[in-house]
Amino acid sequence: MPTRDRSSFYAELERQLDQARASGLYKTERVLLSRQGPEVMGDDGVLRINLCSNNYLGLSGDDELVEAGIETLKAFGYGMSSVRFICGTQSIHRALEKRLAEFLGTEDAILYAAAFDANGGLFECLLDDRDAVVSDELNHASIIDGIRLCRARRFRYAHDDMADLEAKLRDAASCRFRIIATDGVFSMDGTIARLDAICDLADRHDALVMIDDSHATGFMGRTGRGTHEHHGVMERVDIVTGTLGKALGGAMGGFTAGRKTLIDMLRQRSRPYLFSNSLAPVIVGTSLHVLDRLTASSSLRDRLFDNAVHVRAALAKMGYTLKPGTHPIIPVMVFDAPLAQQLADSLYRSGVLVTGFFHPVVPLGQARVRVQVSAAHTRGQLDRSMEAFAAAGRALGILQAG
Ligand SMILES: *Cc1c(COP(=O)(O)O)cnc(C)c1O
Repeated sequence: MPTRDRSSFYAELERQLDQARASGLYKTERVLLSRQGPEVMGDDGVLRINLCSNNYLGLSGDDELVEAGIETLKAFGYGMSSVRFICGTQSIHRALEKRLAEFLGTEDAILYAAAFDANGGLFECLLDDRDAVVSDELNHASIIDGIRLCRARRFRYAHDDMADLEAKLRDAASCRFRIIATDGVFSMDGTIARLDAICDLADRHDALVMIDDSHATGFMGRTGRGTHEHHGVMERVDIVTGTLGKALGGAMGGFTAGRKTLIDMLRQRSRPYLFSNSLAPVIVGTSLHVLDRLTASSSLRDRLFDNAVHVRAALAKMGYTLKPGTHPIIPVMVFDAPLAQQLADSLYRSGVLVTGFFHPVVPLGQARVRVQVSAAHTRGQLDRSMEAFAAAGRALGILQAG
């Protein structure tokens, strides 16, 4: 028997990993010993203020959610061991879909194991080669992959550029159906898509509008419904996808919301829904609790934006250059990649967790430290992290000494 020689295959993988390490793109993971929260304990036993999670409403480690989870576990068990259409749908799955639809202002909604799956299973079952998707160039990877899986023609418009979007809609004029696809909020900049202008263009060029509101559902807009509420276009957006893995408790899970007919079609045809397990009951029941809580009170949302305003003002006053905006994503622009890394490292040593981002995650020369604020941060925690920002900025020469 000849033995297979796989060494060249694994050597090639090792070569690519070495290359990633050499160029500083190799990703390492921080191991936490605590719950997710405004402060987290690393595996060095040190508690640090966490300014880099998507835990916008501070619910991820919340005691009430743990209780709601335990209650759901007792009532509905641990797993479903089935896809939805065989024997994987409990009353709470349908209840959550209805609650999400109501919350987002649509007729119905469908659950997925992740927003990645919601986007991955969307376009393919709605469009074919007679149709077009017109997509912002900075859209999330899952939207890009979802579009790749469908046979519609692809048109990419320059980020947030309404003139270019209009040009691409004209290019797509001969297609049967057109869908404009955009992130509601872009995660690297905290930029909020201009959905009012996008909906105007959709009206003029007879297109549908799809938004992925993963960085918005639960807190953007007057009652936290998302960027469509923020821009006053709740009735004009056709499809909303989003995640349960960020503001809404942060476990995992995703959804698509829209007209009943569209959701029915997804239930029939969407591959990540048909061929992947039902969302775990504990997540479903706890998400119902989260939506109840968010509709009963705006206090978490109010605290989140108070904190975001406070941190923005403090960083700007120190002399940091920020990407302007109002979202709790606050990009501290450092421009130079090694300097962004040094700032993040220095903050880490003084007890503040942030992430430095540089090319290719953001454009060349646009390196930054991204701050993400949570409703759960106390003023004390934020002020301590601002002191660390001031000291590190002066030590690294980003801010003027004095
Ligand atoms: C985080 C994110 C996702 C992925 O969400 P999951 O539920 O974790 O798969 C998809 N789209 C956008 C815009 C996101 O920010």
